[in-house]
Order: sequence, then C-alpha cells, then structure tokens
Amino acid sequence: MQSRYHRQSILPGFGPAAEGALARAHVMVVGAGALGCPALDLLARAGVGRLSVIDRDTVELTNLQRQTLYSQHDVGQPKAEAASARLRAVNDAIAVDAIVEDFTPYAAEPILLAHPRPSVVLDCTDNFQTRYLLNDACVKHGIPLVYGGAVGTAGMQLTIRPGLTPCLRCLYPDAPQPGVAPTCDTAGIFAPVSAIIGCTQAADAIKLLVDPGALSASMLSFDLWANRRARMDLSGAMDPKCPCCARREFAFLDASESSTECTVLCGRNAVQVPSPARGTQLNLADLATRLAPHGRFATSTTTLAGKLTDGRPLTIFADGRAIVGQTTDPATARAVYARYVGS
Ligand SMILES: [Zn+2]
Repeated sequence: MQSRYHRQSILPGFGPAAEGALARAHVMVVGAGALGCPALDLLARAGVGRLSVIDRDTVELTNLQRQTLYSQHDVGQPKAEAASARLRAVNDAIAVDAIVEDFTPYAAEPILLAHPRPSVVLDCTDNFQTRYLLNDACVKHGIPLVYGGAVGTAGMQLTIRPGLTPCLRCLYPDAPQPGVAPTCDTAGIFAPVSAIIGCTQAADAIKLLVDPGALSASMLSFDLWANRRARMDLSGAMDPKCPCCARREFAFLDASESSTECTVLCGRNAVQVPSPARGTQLNLADLATRLAPHGRFATSTTTLAGKLTDGRPLTIFADGRAIVGQTTDPATARAVYARYVGS
C-alpha cells in the first residue's frame, strides 16, 4: 500500500530524508483564523510531526466565510481546540497541541520555549502588537518566523530567518499607530486572499524544514481583486542599525507586564485595555468614521463612546486606552480592541 505521503514523496527535493525531517519537526502557529486555518491544514496533511495551535478567541459565525477548519457546530468553541480536533481527524499520526492563551509579552517566552522548542513559528495573527512581539521573540531565540498578513483584497507574506534575512523591524521599524491600519472587521477580508497567504506560509514552513536552500529572501504580495502580484527582493535589506536584529533590543517582548496588562473593572462587567504604546494619540474623528457602520458612537475631544451593533459597550480614549464592556475576560477585550481599533 502506498503511504499517505506518496504524492509528496515523489516530488523533487522530497524522499525519506525530507519525510523524516517533517515528522521530527514542531511548527507553532500563532492565530488559528483566516491565515492559520489553511496553513495548519496543509502542514497536518504534509506530516509535520507536532503542531501547536495558539489562539485566544472562540469561533463566531462570521468566521466561517474564510476560516476553513471550522463548521457551524464549532461556533462558540475555542478556536485552538476546534482546530486541533479537526487536524487530528485529518492526520492521527501527528501530535496537535491546543493552546487557548493570549500571546502577550508576559506569556510569549513561556509558550515559545515550552518543550519541544519549535522548528518554525507562523505568524497568523491579526494585530501589530502581537506581530512585533513574535518578531522580537523569534529573533531573540533564533527561530525562523513566517509572517503573513491579509486585509480587504490584499495580503503579504515574508519569511524571517534571524541573522540571515531582514526582520520585520528592518523593513517597518515601528508598529502603526492604533486606529490607523484597517482590520478585517472594519474593512472586510476576501477569503481567497487570506487562503493564498496561508498557503504560501505553509509552503515556506515546509521548505525551511526540508530544504532551506529553496527559500528566497523576498516578500510576496497579492491583491487578488486588482490582479496584482509582486515579489520584492530583500537580499541586502537587513538594516545594520535595526533595533531588534542588530542591536538586540526587544522592546515589544520586554514591555513590562504592568504596562500591557488589562484591568478587569470590578462591578462593571468591563475590561480596560491599556494603550499599546506610550505617547499614542488617536485621531478619534477618523476612527468614528471607520466605526460608524459597526455601531452607534458619540465623540468628544478625549473619547469615542457607544455600543457596537451586537450591543457591547465600547469606549476608546484618545491616548489609545479602551474599555470593553460585557466581559471580564482580558483576552476577549484584547480581541475586540484588535478588531475595531486595530493595533
Ligand atoms: Zn531587523
């Protein structure tokens, strides 16, 4: 009988050695949403021996348009657990760990360095704070990081090999101010574009494991609606003054716990999400325009306050703080913040 990997094993560059490398590998995927679903699915089918699935969210009905590991029965379940159950059904010869946690500066290294140490990490998150945090953590510990991002009809993918290719901060030294970049919840997401980005992430992860020489130091970008595809050559693009990979200052990872901690507001059924960076100054008028289709809000010079269409109270302060109602769970509050403010 042919092995389940037969059609892969007859490819050039594959064979018993590559199959063994995949079977011994541990790939950690942070974010089991629109990017993480196709990436995890392909990695499980390719025979990656251990997958860790990290996600703080639960499955919602609006996820099903693009998050291909979930069915209607999974609505309300933690994504990490629903995804893991599906992946075990796809391939019971591999180990799959579900980690229902918020990837915060405090939690990042304990998660990343839990045994066994990952061979590759995939950034399938939806917010810049976590992306820069992952960049810091992976550069610090020399772990390859496969970055993906998609919003609207466009997406990009970049593989970071610490010390060999540019890191995120070589290319984009600072995270965008909160409330500036569009998010999938405010701008929408075209499912084929998140699928293609997740697939390119899985492809690079497999190449890293079986034949790193097959990788190219480049950034891919797609706009599937405008029919634009581009490959930007990044050889020679490492920044010798990069705060992260050159100076080894890990500002996102070292953010003190107190400055990044959510506060549960006793008796209010609400959580305060801190400002993502000191000195943040939001343009509340612009944010009000973007949030107008998603609820009813009133703005003052210092706050934007009101309710989302699902009735959840949300107050956003000009300094980037927010109070998210109808929850006492910091991870839920951070998720709402990432969706509607974006950071
Ligand atoms: Zn760098």
